[in-house]
Amino acid sequence: MLKGLSFEVFPPNTTIGLNKLFETLQELERLQPEFISVTCSNGTNNVAETTVKVASYIHQELNISTIAHLPATYLSRQEVDEVLSQLDKLGIHQVLALRGDILPQLTPKTDFQYASELTSYIKQVAPQFDLSGACYPEIHPESISRLSDIKHLKKKVEAGCHQLISQLFLDNDCFYHFQEACELAEIGAPIIAGIMPIVNRNQALRLLKTTKTKLPRKFLAILEKYEHDPIALRAAGLAYAVDQIVDLVTQDVSGIHLYTMNDAKVAQHIVTNTQSLFTSKTASFVV
Ligand code: FAD
Repeated sequence: MLKGLSFEVFPPNTTIGLNKLFETLQELERLQPEFISVTCSNGTNNVAETTVKVASYIHQELNISTIAHLPATYLSRQEVDEVLSQLDKLGIHQVLALRGDILPQLTPKTDFQYASELTSYIKQVAPQFDLSGACYPEIHPESISRLSDIKHLKKKVEAGCHQLISQLFLDNDCFYHFQEACELAEIGAPIIAGIMPIVNRNQALRLLKTTKTKLPRKFLAILEKYEHDPIALRAAGLAYAVDQIVDLVTQDVSGIHLYTMNDAKVAQHIVTNTQSLFTSKTASFVV
C-alpha cells in the first residue's frame, strides 16, 4: 500500500457510467492507494444508489479503505441517519463531513447549516465513524477573510474531524501559507493536499470559470502554449502535477489526495512517476 497517497472518484449518474467506474476502480486498485474517497452530489436524495454503492464496491470487492463524502445541506437528520446506518452495516466507518454548495435552484434544509454541525451530530449519534473535513488553502469562496475561515475550520476540527482534505491548488506556496496559518491557530489535524492534474482544455476552462484557484505564471504559460495541442497539454499538465507532488512530499506534507476525475491512466502516470517518494525511507508516511 502506498501510505500517504489517496484517490478521489465521483459516481456518474448513469448505469453505464457506473459500470465503467467499477472497471476504473479495478485499475486504481493495482496502484495500491491508502484510501479512495467517493464524492456525493449535493442535493441528491439518492446517496445509497451512488456514493454508498461505489464505496461499498471499494470496501467489499477491492478491500481498500474508503471515505464516503456526505454533504448535508439538503439532508435532514433522518436522512443522514439512514446513510450512516447503511455505511455502518457495510463496515464503512469513514465519512468526509461536508456542508455542500448552496445551489440557487434548491432551498437548503435546516438541520445542518455548516459542516461543523454535521460533524458534531455524527460524533454524538454514531461515534464509531472517523470524520474528515474539507479545507481551503486559498480560503473558502464565501469567507469574508482568512481569519474567519480559519476560525470556522478550527471549530470543525474541534467538533470531531480528525483530518482535513484540501481543495485543489496549483501554487504550493498557497498551501504552505495555509498550513502555517493552521499551525498558528493550533489546528492540529493533519492536512492532506488535494492535487488535480489538469490534462485537457475543457477541464482548464472549467477551473478558470468555477473556482478562484490562483493560476501561477508557469501554469498559465502551459495553457497558452498548448491550447491547441491536446497531447502536449496532457503531458505538461501531468508533469506539472508530478512537480507539485515532488515538492509537497519533500516538504513532509501529511498526504496527497489525487482528484483522479475517474481517469485511471492519469493516476497511473502520477504513481509511476512518484511512487518511490512514498516508499522512500525518508518519507514521513513510512512507519
Ligand atoms: P463548511 O465547513 O461548513 O464551510 C462553508 C463556509 O461557511 C465557509 O466559508 C466557512 O468559513 C463558513 N462557516 C463555517 N462555519 C461557520 C459558522 N459557524 N458561522 C459562519 N460561517 C461559517 N461538495 C459536494 O457537494 N460533494 C462532495 O462530494 C464534495 N467533496 C469535497 C471534497 C473536498 C476535499 C473539498 C475541499 C470540497 C468538497 N465539496 C464537495 C465542496 C464543498 O461541499 C463546498 O466547498 C461547500 O461550499 C463547503 O463545504 P464545507 O464542508 O467546506 O463547508
